[in-house]
Amino acid sequence: MKRETGGQLLDRGTTRPGPPQAPPPRPPRWRVWLLLAGVLVAMALFFVPNPAAHHPESLTYSQLKTDIGAGQVASVALGQDGSVSGKLTNGTTFTSSYPVGLQDPQFTQLLDQHDVQVSTKPSGTPVWSLVLSFLPLLLIVALFLWTGRTARRQIGGLMGIGRSRGRLFDRERPSTTFADVAGYEGAKREVSEVVDFLKHPDRYRRAGAVGPKGVLMVGPPGTGKTLLARAVAGEASVPFISVTGSSFVEMFVGVGAARVRDLFEEARRQAPSIVFIDEIDALGQRRGGQLFANDERDQTLNQMLAEMDGFDPAGGVVVIAATNRPEVLDPALLRPGRFDRQVAIPLPAQREREAILVAHSRGKPLASGVDLNVVARGTPGFSGADLANLVNEAAIFAVRAGRDVIEALDFAEARDRILLGRRDGTNALLPEEKRAVAVHEAGHALVAALSPHADPVAKVTILPAGQALGVTEQLPVDERHLYSEGYLKDSLAVRMGGRAAERVVFGQVSSGAANDLAGATELATRMVREFGMSAALGPVGFTSGGPSYLGGLDTVRPYAEATQRVIDEEVGRLLREADERAVATLTDRRATLDRLTRVLLDRETIDGTDVDEAIRQT
Ligand code: ADP
Ligand code: MG
Ligand code: ZN
Repeated sequence: MKRETGGQLLDRGTTRPGPPQAPPPRPPRWRVWLLLAGVLVAMALFFVPNPAAHHPESLTYSQLKTDIGAGQVASVALGQDGSVSGKLTNGTTFTSSYPVGLQDPQFTQLLDQHDVQVSTKPSGTPVWSLVLSFLPLLLIVALFLWTGRTARRQIGGLMGIGRSRGRLFDRERPSTTFADVAGYEGAKREVSEVVDFLKHPDRYRRAGAVGPKGVLMVGPPGTGKTLLARAVAGEASVPFISVTGSSFVEMFVGVGAARVRDLFEEARRQAPSIVFIDEIDALGQRRGGQLFANDERDQTLNQMLAEMDGFDPAGGVVVIAATNRPEVLDPALLRPGRFDRQVAIPLPAQREREAILVAHSRGKPLASGVDLNVVARGTPGFSGADLANLVNEAAIFAVRAGRDVIEALDFAEARDRILLGRRDGTNALLPEEKRAVAVHEAGHALVAALSPHADPVAKVTILPAGQALGVTEQLPVDERHLYSEGYLKDSLAVRMGGRAAERVVFGQVSSGAANDLAGATELATRMVREFGMSAALGPVGFTSGGPSYLGGLDTVRPYAEATQRVIDEEVGRLLREADERAVATLTDRRATLDRLTRVLLDRETIDGTDVDEAIRQT
């Protein structure tokens, strides 16, 4: 997953402080002269300039980052409100600010890398200046108390000052409709009920029906959850009040809960309306049971549950929440009357990918040779956001090449760039290394092309891309959900193909096949342990590992030591058989292997038809 939610920046190495300020100490029985002296000091302090606020230089956030990067910052103190104060290495003090909500991970990294001493401030202003500025007030308050006047209400007023709540949520009326969401017909159907309810809440009220209250959209990042939620608001033409779960998680106990109250108040005022809570896992995690209890989050979550239970079912407020980690959510959130409807938004399947590509290519000049179906086939695992990015990158490639239409090769370039990282276009290998890579990739390609159940070869390249020196790519004919034993065995042989070719041609193997071996071993292990594809072990299946959040604790094996030995033997056998088959195939077709190697050395990147051609001609 791309990112973790939660306040990494603020939580790091800090303990959760209490409320912004402790209430003033009850006045001890001071003597009158002591108090009078205090009042005099207070008066003086009102007029003497505050030393901490004397002449600190004020930096913008980007200046601050630049200065840290240049090693000019010795220490910083971070406030929960985003204020920063600190010292430069030359001794000057400065003040600055950082964006609290954005949680810029670069910032933390920078601080780490340049050994900046980091501390946190218990509240927005430096402790020292805070004490100084409040001292006079405290003294005067103490005087009031001492003289028996009731000043408590005033204190209450004062305490409120430190708790300014920033603007928390965005309010808009989106013009997005279901037509803007390509594919996902099932999900649209599920949420259209919400649209109907929001359009006619009175109808539901008259019939005494309880409308939907909460919808939880579950899926990986970039799959269009936000888009779909906005489309619901757009279709129903109601206000869309959106907020991110992590923005509730404040360090001040009680603030998050207050914000939840505000949010729902606003939603009720605007009803019928949609409240959209993105990344709800940031606030909706299971209460208790954690190593570090987070009272603040618990309070916030409790408040949210109370709001959802409290509001009139016919009131016309629907809460839509999004998460990619439903398993961490507190079960209480999923109870009836809360987020009792779940809509799965998985990564798009091939047909959906094509629809999304079509949607994002609309209005862009595509060359007649571009087949978005082929592009969709070549992008399994891409999210909607990735595909939107792909179309944009392809357009950029076309512009750079001075063309005014987008060609198929632009899509291929864009895809490779997204998939494999930037390619520099030069093949910086030694000639003999280049030959070894060509032999290796030709081996993969040839075994793939000659195995009856394997996916056809789409592309073979000896251009380094990302970590790999060369790449052989197979393209599934259809999206697969089930894998036959024959397919899996072929796929083992294909993985062994690179190494086998090295052995056939050079008589020895190189270190370049480590990844292939690791992949093959993993697959073979699953075939034996999980898929019951080993005769010796029989039709048993052990699910792999435990839930990942148990981490290293999950070392308990559900079978005996002797079984493990059989598994190891069977995995070894499968791998040996696959290797032998690859070697036999390549020895048998040695002439084809050599020819394919030459073609690869010559052209560096070839496709499946070139492989078939080599097979036909030798
Ligand atoms: P999520 O909230 O699930 O992380 P978003 O709704 O923010 O994803 O999607 C990011 C972008 O990806 C959208 O703005 C849109 O451009 C594109 N996108 C994702 N899914 C689709 C889809 N089904 N149809 C069209 N565009 C999509
Ligand atoms: Mg989103
Ligand atoms: Zn390989």
